[in-house]
Amino acid sequence: MLRKKLLLGTFALLLLSCSKDLDEVSTTENYENTSTITAELAYPDDIGETIILNSKSQNPITISYINNEYVWGGDMILTPKQVEKLRTSDDSKRTGLSNYADKWPNGQVFFTIASNLPNQARVTDAIAHWEANVPSLQFTQRTNQSNYIEFVVGRGCSSSLGMIGGRQRINLAAGCSTGNTIHEIGHALGLFHEQQRADRNDDIIINWNNIESGRDQNFETYVDRGMNGFEFGPFDFGSIMMYGSFFFSDNGLPTITRLDGSTFNIQRTALSNGDIEAASFMYDRPNINGANTICSSNQTYTLDTFVPTPPVWTVSNNLQIISSNNTSITVSAINPNSSQSGWIRSNMNGLITTKNVWIGNPETPTRLLHVTRFGCTMGEISVDAFSGVETYDWQVSGGTIVIPNTGGSNTYSGTSSTIFVDPIDGPYGFTVKVRTRNACGVTSYYTKHIPTDCNPNGGGGQTPL
Ligand SMILES: [Zn+2]
Repeated sequence: MLRKKLLLGTFALLLLSCSKDLDEVSTTENYENTSTITAELAYPDDIGETIILNSKSQNPITISYINNEYVWGGDMILTPKQVEKLRTSDDSKRTGLSNYADKWPNGQVFFTIASNLPNQARVTDAIAHWEANVPSLQFTQRTNQSNYIEFVVGRGCSSSLGMIGGRQRINLAAGCSTGNTIHEIGHALGLFHEQQRADRNDDIIINWNNIESGRDQNFETYVDRGMNGFEFGPFDFGSIMMYGSFFFSDNGLPTITRLDGSTFNIQRTALSNGDIEAASFMYDRPNINGANTICSSNQTYTLDTFVPTPPVWTVSNNLQIISSNNTSITVSAINPNSSQSGWIRSNMNGLITTKNVWIGNPETPTRLLHVTRFGCTMGEISVDAFSGVETYDWQVSGGTIVIPNTGGSNTYSGTSSTIFVDPIDGPYGFTVKVRTRNACGVTSYYTKHIPTDCNPNGGGGQTPL
């Protein structure tokens, strides 16, 4: 079942997830908080100074400045550059934040663990948990890579948001568990908190009056914060990125409830199914697999990875959709004899994947693009890589094709758009022919005479044209 939502501001994501509610113990009447799970905080005993950015905006942004660091949402440490992006953003220019949190290229995360960090197993266990559940992520001990995470001793649990470039820290106090470490790695991968998704009011109520002074910002959505993002799939109370009902309560009453007023339990044990699906989606962009060429029959294309939400399929105007579902689409050419390019596209909440295709026969080669000046020895001939071509058929009259190696033949059929020819000594030139072929058919030969400089009697020669 696909249920994941993720806020991926082109890359700033909010991990949401879904999943069955883990041991949900909620009571509407009795708000006794029996959970021992508390919020991750960079500096548990220090609220710091509240800074309001972009106060002219409809949604002024507040962050905390503590110990020379910009802390957002309790445990995410923003770089000065990320803060500057917030400072200069306005509501009409949100696209400037589309790369708010950068992803780790190819899912490759490099890390080191400070030698003085106690209980290093919580780090290696958390990494192993991520790797086991999201195979597209690979965590590697850093050697000399410039972008990496260092797990260090901190006053609380905190992390940078996304890959910030250079060394970035995940701070772990003694009380930060393996589960907290999994959560902080989530931030380093680009995940926000679950309750920050823009549509959270459809599932939860924020009780602002119960929130500790100075902690309101932890409950604002990413939209309130001027960040780009989007979500899909249902709200996930089971996400390891979700806040608890009593986090930052000033008076023992819940700060977050379900819409019916009931409280809920959260967990810091493992990634939820939704967390796994969202992170897989972030770091394993689906490809559209299928034939490169569309002829007269229908062709089916499939997305090769988990699809968290039904994509919106579109095709170029020379194709038509026969049928589609969450993971595949069947199309046909409007004019199968048209010889033109086209495309098939899936759009999953803004994450767009495109497959380029060719419709009909390949284009006919009409010119030889490059011919070296031929003496008596080998020379090179190439044609443009014509669109839609899958293989080339070459024929030479008056010479042999030596590259690709044909074993002395004057013909070659294959994917090479370039051949090397050894002309026969004697005649002042030879003839080359080439035609193109794809799954739909083959074009006619294009023919050209190639002059040579070779005098069959020795002593130089001339180029008869
Ligand atoms: Zn957090």
